[in-house]
Amino acid sequence: MKVLKGATLIDGTGGDPIPNATVVVDGERIVDVGASDAVKSPPGAAVIDLSGMTLLPGLIDCHDHLGHTGYGLMDRWELDAPASLRHLRTAQVLQDTLEMGYTSVRDAGGLDHGFQLAVEEGLIPGPRLTLSVSLISPTGGLSDVRSPSGHCCPPPMNLNLPSGVADGPDAIRAKVRELCRLGATVIKCASTGGASSRPGHGPYDREFTREEMQALVDESHDLGRRVMCHALGGSGLRLALEVGVDSVEHGTYLNEDPDLIPMMAEKGIFYVPTLLVYVYHRENVQDHVKERARKLHADHLDSIRRALDVGVKVVAGTDAGGWGHPDNAGELKCMVEEAGMTPMQALVSATGTAADCLGQSDELGTVAKGKLADLVAVDGDPLSDITCLLEKKRIKLVMKGGQEFVNSL
Ligand SMILES: [Zn+2]
Repeated sequence: MKVLKGATLIDGTGGDPIPNATVVVDGERIVDVGASDAVKSPPGAAVIDLSGMTLLPGLIDCHDHLGHTGYGLMDRWELDAPASLRHLRTAQVLQDTLEMGYTSVRDAGGLDHGFQLAVEEGLIPGPRLTLSVSLISPTGGLSDVRSPSGHCCPPPMNLNLPSGVADGPDAIRAKVRELCRLGATVIKCASTGGASSRPGHGPYDREFTREEMQALVDESHDLGRRVMCHALGGSGLRLALEVGVDSVEHGTYLNEDPDLIPMMAEKGIFYVPTLLVYVYHRENVQDHVKERARKLHADHLDSIRRALDVGVKVVAGTDAGGWGHPDNAGELKCMVEEAGMTPMQALVSATGTAADCLGQSDELGTVAKGKLADLVAVDGDPLSDITCLLEKKRIKLVMKGGQEFVNSL
């Protein structure tokens, strides 16, 4: 048994912090939690003194691409290095992500099931993974990557990471089944283009038809998978909400149609805005991407504010990968500094609400009796300065399922 003592606890529910808290961990689970004067330390338990620190639930990133390294074709087609080297680099990304306090990640495409198995076997350190494997889009859509010369990508070198292109309800149902066979625990699709899509296929361009989207959602739900849908604006965004996807990724123009945000609230659809990726898009890459990213910024922030106002569940996701793997808590910084969320709202979006988005709120996301002991202690107060979560030397303790992966106390 382990007793974590003395920290200020932010439990992930949005409730008031508990000063001088005690958390008792037995094996992989939390067995008691509360103010130190109300929680007994079991005799013989190892005491971890966290005085002066803040203790949080393990952080969750609901939109990452752990296996991606860049937007260029050499990267996208995985031609830039031997497969073995790429895999080892990805393993390093998994470790780095965990060591920054991220104990769970929902991967939005590009990571095969073997990484999850390796983490579960204890072969490599990494976050708990919810995998989409590949992103489903139609011909000409987000997953149909071509070179400017019109060339198609080489045949998949990794049979566990197939192309996500599918057209027509039957082929889409088959693609969902195939991805489930390959270990997908969530289904990722795109219903519009994106900021980084090719010229001529942008945020307002619809991808699937209604029949196709409905087939995708129905098949996924029948197989017990939630649907995370890349959707920025226009009729493709509306379609995603109408057919009942479980989360909207990006959602940059949700504010444009007055009934979209209320529809999300009513249907309980999660909103994963991914602010951090647009910082990159505004400042880097090709001109047409910069222009789209700059144009959507004000609407994106307005959409988030309006969503929060009517109780839409906003969730933290970075969309890291295409532009490298910086610290995932950069998303929380953007939520506070750009979107005007309170630090507590940002923390809940990456803990309690994020676990709810994963469908794992009975196990993860808050510090409560019976839940898995995924915990992070930071030397600082994220409620007064959210950026303390970006400093590696201040992440003093990272525990996943009761096991310590960082302990620099
Ligand atoms: Zn993404």
